[in-house]
Amino acid sequence: MKRIKVNLDKQSSLSHDICIGHNILDRMGLVIAKVTLAHRYTVITDSNVSALYGKEILGVLKEVNVKADLIEFPAGESSKNMDTVLSITRKLIDRGVDRSSALIALGGGVTGDITGLIASIYMRSIPYIQVPTTLMAQVDSSIGGKTGIDLPEGKNLLGTFFQPQAIFIDLRFLKTLPDDEFVNGLSEVVKYAIIDDVDLFNLLEEKSGTIRDRDPDVLETIVERSCKIKKGIVEIDEKDMGVRRILNFGHTIGHAIEAESGYTIPHGNAVSVGMIAAARISERMKYLSSEDRDRIQQLVRAAGLADYIPASISTEGIISKTRVDKKKEGGSIHFVLLKKIGMPFINGSVEEALIYKTIEELKK
Ligand code: ADP
Ligand code: ZN
Repeated sequence: MKRIKVNLDKQSSLSHDICIGHNILDRMGLVIAKVTLAHRYTVITDSNVSALYGKEILGVLKEVNVKADLIEFPAGESSKNMDTVLSITRKLIDRGVDRSSALIALGGGVTGDITGLIASIYMRSIPYIQVPTTLMAQVDSSIGGKTGIDLPEGKNLLGTFFQPQAIFIDLRFLKTLPDDEFVNGLSEVVKYAIIDDVDLFNLLEEKSGTIRDRDPDVLETIVERSCKIKKGIVEIDEKDMGVRRILNFGHTIGHAIEAESGYTIPHGNAVSVGMIAAARISERMKYLSSEDRDRIQQLVRAAGLADYIPASISTEGIISKTRVDKKKEGGSIHFVLLKKIGMPFINGSVEEALIYKTIEELKK
């Protein structure tokens, strides 16, 4: 099991470890028993993950004499709302969970976001641990302390920054992950490679034909490298005020495509075509070479991700959603562009006409 330390503040209480490895649940049990973070733990998980791993995680904790129980909610993004938060909260109260307790988020991004939010406000906050089970959650959403739920008006509109006490990434969970969910998570891995890691980019290119076979060694490398990049950026800019915006590469147009499709296009596909769009805009503005732009496009395709926008989605709609993107400031749209692979920068003055043309070209 490898440990990566996330250094968030001079007060060491806010720092925590990311532990990564294959079959690490037993060791996780030992660590939890040793640190005595809480008198009891409640595992929060969705119905799918509960059926696969619920009994096992409770068994692991029982083995080391840690008192634990489990609450499950229906799987799916549609559960990421206030009703689920309230229903879980009432169950916690019912079971006598108090300030000496802690939560364990076992699942994908939805579970992590909901559990983190509840942990940050339940009885004015209790500790929680992230145990991410999707590739997306392992490389992205479990790190950085963002929590939240969706409202009918938009995604993640209610939330907090609240860091977990630890993150345990068992790569074995990825064996049962459906292929489309695996590919969805790959989009963020490709993003990290593009913004920060030419070696990772080369590796992904080299393995692109077999990446979906989930070879354990390859998985370990890509998850570990992705976690290191994310944690490095979060350490510098925990509250998303500056450099953390680099993580938004591909997401300005990506989020707009997702929303404009009524969330029928998965996040990974929307971000992938958003990354291609950002690369093309970078090329047109004479920052990025056409070779690098082409490599990005090829890698997205080889990873099984989307390289086009369905023709039914309106370009005007995408652009207007880009404008109202919450990351926008004043009148200008902040785009993450590229000088080359591994060298992103933030540009506040991309012309709307260029965005329009680029989106139109990506329609199919
Ligand atoms: P994400 O992590 O992509 O934000 P979710 O939390 O919605 O998304 O998880 C995506 C789907 O994958 C959900 O239906 C969830 O129940 C399921 N899931 C999560 N982890 C696993 C796993 N290890 N094996 C199989 N299915 C899983
Ligand atoms: Zn993303």
